[in-house]
Amino acid sequence: MNILLIGPQGSGKGTQGELLSQSLQIPHISSGDLLREEMTKHTPRARKLKTLVNNGKLVPDVLIEDMVLDRLGKVDCRKGFILEGFPRTIAQAEWLGDARTIRAVIELRLSTRDALRRIFLRKQCVSCGHTFGPGAVAYKKGSCDHCGGKLEKRADDTPAAVKKRLALYHEKTEPLIAYYRKQKVLLSFDGAQEIQGLFGKIANALKKIN
Ligand SMILES: [Zn+2]
Repeated sequence: MNILLIGPQGSGKGTQGELLSQSLQIPHISSGDLLREEMTKHTPRARKLKTLVNNGKLVPDVLIEDMVLDRLGKVDCRKGFILEGFPRTIAQAEWLGDARTIRAVIELRLSTRDALRRIFLRKQCVSCGHTFGPGAVAYKKGSCDHCGGKLEKRADDTPAAVKKRLALYHEKTEPLIAYYRKQKVLLSFDGAQEIQGLFGKIANALKKIN
C-alpha cells in the first residue's frame, strides 16, 4: 500500500512512520533523509544539489521528483511505501499521482502551540539528522538509535524560525489536504495523542482500506 504522511514539525510523523514501517513491512522514506543521503554521493545530481543547498537556493521540483522516483523504484517499495515530506505542492501531488497510486494520506494535526512546545524539547542527531523527543530512549541516552551520533538541540530551532516554518507549512499544505480529501484518501488524526494510542488508530483505519 502506498501511503503519504503529512503533518507539521513536531507532529510525530517520523515516529509514526517508523512504527507503520515495522508493522506493514514497507519502507518509511523521508524526503529530508533522501536529500541528506543524496548529498553524500558523488553523482552529477548530488553535485547540483550541493551547490543549490550550500548557496541557500531552493531545490527545483524536477530534481526532487527525480530523486523520489529513483527511491520508489527500488525493490523494497514493491509492496508499497510510506512517504514523508513529499509532495509539498499540488503540482508535485499531481505528478506523484501519475507515477504511483496513493491509497492513503495520513494527516497528523497539531496546534502551533503544541508544535512549538514539542520542537523546543526535541534533539537532533548531529550526523544523520534524525530527531528525537523526550519520550525516546535515545533522548535519555543522548546518542542516536540509527548511527550512534551525538544528539543536540537544533541551532535553527529558535522561536521565530520555528514559527515561520510552521506558518509556511500551513500555507503550503492546506491546499494539499483539501486535494487529498477530495480524492477521498485522507485520514486525519489528532497528533497531540500519546504515541501508541495514535498508532493503534492509524493502523485500524488502514486495515479498513484493504
Ligand atoms: Zn544518527
